[in-house]
Amino acid sequence: MEILLAAKAGFCFGVKRAIKTAYDTAREIDGEVATIGPLIHNPQVVSRLKEMGVHPVEGVKGFHGNTLVIRSHGVPPSVYVDAERAGVHLVDATCPFVKNAQDYASLLREEGYRVVIVGDRNHPEVQGIMAYAGDQAYVAVDAEDLGGLGKVRRIGVIAQTTIPLERFRSVVSHCLEIAGEVKVFNTICDATRIRQEEAQDIARKVDLMLVVGGRNSGNTTRLAELCRETGTRTIHLETVLEVDPAWLEWVEKIGITAGASTPEWIIREIVEKLHHLQESGEGAGGTAPQQEQN
Ligand code: SF4
Repeated sequence: MEILLAAKAGFCFGVKRAIKTAYDTAREIDGEVATIGPLIHNPQVVSRLKEMGVHPVEGVKGFHGNTLVIRSHGVPPSVYVDAERAGVHLVDATCPFVKNAQDYASLLREEGYRVVIVGDRNHPEVQGIMAYAGDQAYVAVDAEDLGGLGKVRRIGVIAQTTIPLERFRSVVSHCLEIAGEVKVFNTICDATRIRQEEAQDIARKVDLMLVVGGRNSGNTTRLAELCRETGTRTIHLETVLEVDPAWLEWVEKIGITAGASTPEWIIREIVEKLHHLQESGEGAGGTAPQQEQN
């Protein structure tokens, strides 16, 4: 069995920066430190932070400590106002690429464009960007989702940083049909694009693709979707405990990638487990798993 491990698997620049910021803040600040929402969409990392005394809270309201860390997804502008009023110190770990998307959302709103954000309206990053884009902001997960928009004079389009380029392109193309003027800022981050392309490239070469990361992680779920689109059996797993020895019975090549919020130690444990199973000859009698649906 051969394992093809993606070079870009695991933490991206923005997540590494947010985790370092949270760890440094917890070490350096006296008093209670918390994060606004779970720091990243990975339950294992969030548990480790809790062990250090850093818990997620919903927001400034109801927080009685002195320091809050803003995660890489960013927050609406109202959070900065609330914090100042409440005397809560904010440590801002918003990813610079997300900040970029927030700034473009403000700019488009100020210039009078109806802002269309391509992404998942329930994702905290999108909820933050929406607040910069104004009351008229419209969130579309894909081109079909633009149905409620009707004819618009001027549309400004931006993207959630982790959506696939193809989806962004199709929404932009649809906007050209419904608006007199379309202004586009491609705010998809490069780390995401490179990771997605590499994952699909590996998926095309293997019998089984493993995508490692939190089930609540949007970018990991999208990676798994993109790998499935290649036709290769793809399994989204969170930890080594889900590795099934039966997989080794029917595969010659396994590909592994991981979402931007997946720590390196979780990926390493999975690779080591697969090597161990291979060396020990375990895994006899397995059957090929069905394509997993998330
Ligand atoms: S995926 Fe990109 S935008 Fe999101 S945190 Fe990582 S580097 Fe920043």
